[in-house]
Amino acid sequence: SGPLMKGRRGLVMGVANDHSIAWGIAQALALHGAEMAFTYQGDAFGRRVKPLAESVGSKILLPCDVTDSQSLDSVFRTLKEEWGTLDFVVHAIAYSDKSELKGRYADTTRENFLRSMDISCFSFTDVARRAAEMMPNGGAMVTLTYEGAQRVMPNYNVMGVAKAALEASVRYLAADFGRDGIRVNAISAGPMRTLAGSAIGDARFVHKWNKTHSALKETIELEHVGGAGLYLLSDLSARVTGEIHYVDGGYNIIGLPRAEEMTN
Ligand code: NAD
Repeated sequence: SGPLMKGRRGLVMGVANDHSIAWGIAQALALHGAEMAFTYQGDAFGRRVKPLAESVGSKILLPCDVTDSQSLDSVFRTLKEEWGTLDFVVHAIAYSDKSELKGRYADTTRENFLRSMDISCFSFTDVARRAAEMMPNGGAMVTLTYEGAQRVMPNYNVMGVAKAALEASVRYLAADFGRDGIRVNAISAGPMRTLAGSAIGDARFVHKWNKTHSALKETIELEHVGGAGLYLLSDLSARVTGEIHYVDGGYNIIGLPRAEEMTN
């Protein structure tokens, strides 16, 4: 009994500002007693993340660019020195050149394809391997994905392909680490108004369509993803691993909207 995350220490990667999904999850974890270290990408984000991290009592705030192995080495070196062990990881990082988040997938360049895959997919595997080494008593990891991995969404393009690979990597990592008591899951969030979300072409249209054509007919807010993050990172989800957990208002289950809804 007691707060779900009391005595648990974890790394939260991907807070850019107070609209970030990683921040929604961090707030839910903080409410339940978790101690967190945060990473940020570049000084400009660092200035935004610092007061957020401090507001939840975090004492560890580190720069990290996931394309740079040395920067990841340095993060995990610090965590080893400060904490020794780790209980959970939140990975909420993705990137594609904005110019390829519109138009046809077919026009993706090799350079942006590889970069998008590196940052949006491989980085989770890279982080997971390092984190698992610090989880002698088991642990839990969560990454963020989107339905564009499974079905074609306008303008999502190379990011959909990267998310498909990310979802597959969740299953492989869950199998690799299962014997160590480490669970690996993904949250598939509906469209949200974040920095990354707004980089995708026609984001407003997609956001509105998802609301009106979901089962619940509601938008997805940070607290909803936060609740799912808390569940997947706490013992509430013991024995749940390798899952893609939808927080999309039931959008993905709908085959066809009711005829009268088409006027919306
Ligand atoms: P966000 O812009 O707040 O977060 C994206 C984060 O990725 C930023 O903090 C950015 O600094 C980080 N990042 C990008 N490249 C990096 C690099 N090289 N090194 C380190 N960090 C890097 O937007 P968000 O919507 O909160 O995105 C978080 C995750 O949620 C992403 O994986 C995104 O694909 C996923 N997601 C978003 C939505 C949505 O609609 N916004 C829906 C489903 C899934």
